[in-house]
Amino acid sequence: MAIDDLDILRQELPEVFSNHAVPPDWEEDWLMIPIDDPEAFQSEAENPPDFELAPGGVGMAQDPGAPSDAVFSPESQVPDFGDTVFPGVPSAKGPWTEVPPPDAFAFYLPFHYFHPTWWGVYIVLERLHEFADALAKYSGGVLTFNEALNVGKMFLYGHEAFHHIAEAFATRLEVTHRFPIYSDGFERVYRRVYGTDECIEEALASAHGYRKVKTRAFRRPNDSRKRGAALSALDCYIKLCPPGYRRALEFVADSHFYMQGLRLLNRTTMKPSHQFRGRDHLFGYRLLTPSLALAVSRAG
Ligand SMILES: [Zn+2]
Repeated sequence: MAIDDLDILRQELPEVFSNHAVPPDWEEDWLMIPIDDPEAFQSEAENPPDFELAPGGVGMAQDPGAPSDAVFSPESQVPDFGDTVFPGVPSAKGPWTEVPPPDAFAFYLPFHYFHPTWWGVYIVLERLHEFADALAKYSGGVLTFNEALNVGKMFLYGHEAFHHIAEAFATRLEVTHRFPIYSDGFERVYRRVYGTDECIEEALASAHGYRKVKTRAFRRPNDSRKRGAALSALDCYIKLCPPGYRRALEFVADSHFYMQGLRLLNRTTMKPSHQFRGRDHLFGYRLLTPSLALAVSRAG
């Protein structure tokens, strides 16, 4: 599937698309900075960013195993989509019991709702800084802030890109079945289970981000100590995440990842005879690489 295919899909199957609005003042409130190669990993940022914790941050040390000095803002300052719910929607509903979920630092706008202009993955820069600071602390100081920034970016992009994988799979079913599956079945299941440990899509999304870090971070040159510290820091973060998200570590091994992906995606199809079987059907499909932009608050 290529970008042009989305235009053709829209012409041929307009009923599977709908137009969702971005928040009012979207372009006035946020500056979008495109990132050319979203899956690239740099051990060192070329220009170390100015880092400041968001004002009004609070400690989150309810868990005795959590480092006491990781700090997250009580409310995530992300674009507010109101009551709209779709997988990947920015999560602004803090404060969280332990740590904010990945969707409070980054978000995905699906092409079913935001084609042709705004669909893609966004990472909120201020929140990425907060996340990187936490990861550096969870690593016991092995990762520098800039290294943690790149680990955080890769993990968050991987998480949000999984929401795109699920959407692309729904699209494949729509092409063959010719009725809305993403906006109906997929979203209905997501709404029903969101906020519980039944929300496997969020667990798989974080597992996907974790697997990206495992396979790509600190490979050139190879540094297994840094990579191990990055994965340990993500372990620590994931275990503190809200229900659903916190189950990611169950699915990071190949067999579990594909098996659960199959279960999640099959559950949304209409009849058993329509269900796909086998991992090739799930992940052998060539996907678009969703575009990535850093969203920077103009208020800051
Ligand atoms: Zn998510």
